[in-house]
Amino acid sequence: MPEGSSIDLELRLEAVMDGVLATGTASARAVGECVRCLDTLDDTVVVDLQELYLYDPISAGDGAEDDGEEDELPALEDDLLDLEPVLRDAVVLALPLNPVCDPECPGLCPECGARLADDPDHTHGDPIDPRWASLGRLTQNLPGDVPGPNKE
Ligand SMILES: [Zn+2]
Ligand SMILES: [Zn+2]
Repeated sequence: MPEGSSIDLELRLEAVMDGVLATGTASARAVGECVRCLDTLDDTVVVDLQELYLYDPISAGDGAEDDGEEDELPALEDDLLDLEPVLRDAVVLALPLNPVCDPECPGLCPECGARLADDPDHTHGDPIDPRWASLGRLTQNLPGDVPGPNKE
């Protein structure tokens, strides 16, 4: 997520017995690059949020009814909801781990790095420049271990 990207939030707050239940959706702009061709991706992720903010998290969360999650339940702080960590977690979870510009993205040419989606037919039929080819021949003709004259 780029720095300073905005998150649109639609939130409904409901007073429940132990606190405030926040439900809603958040949409955030996600910018990344395709893991195959490194093309820039500019996407919007939409996540559903539901979080219970307890008035008194200490008495409510004493482990007996813990469902195994280690996350601390968010609490109301001076009647304010701290939405940021909830929002961040939800958006990060919604982001794809390996984003691709297209499920069929052919990626990059292993030889020259060209984006194959833009240039699907390009080939490397003539991979070695003739000038370098003659250089290669030169290397082959270099004496490897010619018996030296001063070996006594
Ligand atoms: Zn791609
Ligand atoms: Zn290529």
